[in-house]
Parts: sequence; structure tokens; C-alpha cells
Amino acid sequence: MRECPLTESRVLVQRAILERIEQERRTAHPLETGGFLEGYRRGRDIEITGLTVASSHDRASPVSFERCSLHHQQHLLASWRRSSGLISLVGDWHSHPAGQGAPSWTDRRAWARLIRSMHGDGVALIATAQGVRIFFLTALVKHKMASELLPIEETEHDCVFARS
Ligand SMILES: [Zn+2]
Repeated sequence: MRECPLTESRVLVQRAILERIEQERRTAHPLETGGFLEGYRRGRDIEITGLTVASSHDRASPVSFERCSLHHQQHLLASWRRSSGLISLVGDWHSHPAGQGAPSWTDRRAWARLIRSMHGDGVALIATAQGVRIFFLTALVKHKMASELLPIEETEHDCVFARS
């Protein structure tokens, strides 16, 4: 298989996932909310096919969200088993009730932990009132762990994000 440069990685998100995230963001406002993203890795591309959403066992404030509930992990394990290992953890998402969705220092620290727990590259999504921002996470480039992707293609069912 050809090794694509980092900039060619694409992230495909089903529209239903983005709609669910928007719905969760609105419901939780003015608190943050979030969860895991699950999906497939295809070469350097990632397809997001599912997510976990917050429960009352998670910890949320207007400026922070912590996944404390066990259901996030349990959901991933169930998907992994049901798909015979095809679907796994590919990233996480959370909302920012205020601002433009710029990652905080805490976000970057959490993403560094996330990268270590995933077996490959990943995706971090920040949902704001203006829309979603998607960051490609990689352990390969130490000085630039997260790089923002932009929408390059939209169909009825999916949105594709890449370095434009
Ligand atoms: Zn954040």
C-alpha cells in the first residue's frame, strides 16, 4: 500500500452523526457535553460511523466535560465485538458553549492521552453554535499533534473533511 503524506488523510462523517452532535450540543447548553467517536480506518482515511453521548454520570460545566460514565467504554466494546473488530475508537467530540471552537490547553492534553490509547491516527471534533471543527490527530508528527481539517465534499449522507 502506498504511504500517503499526512495532508492527504480524509475524514468521512455520516450526516446523521453531525445532526446527533448538534442536537446533543443544544440540549446540554450552557454546559459542555461530549463522548467518543467510533468508526473504521481505511489506509490513512477515517470513517466515523457512530458516537457515544453524555449521561448523568459524566461531569459537565460551562467550560469542561469529563467522560466519567462507564457506558462510553462499554458502548465501544459492544460495537467492536458486534463488528468482529472492524469498528473501534477513532476519536472524541465535545462542545464549546461559547467561542469559536478553538482547542484549549486542556483539550490538547486530553487529545495527547487519546492518541496514546488509540492504535492509529484519530479525529477530535469540537461542536459550537457556528458549526463543527474537526482536527486530525496523529502521533507521527510530535510538534503538530492536531491539524484542522476543512469540509471538501458534502453529499446527502456524508461530509468529507481534509486539508484543503
Ligand atoms: Zn474544549
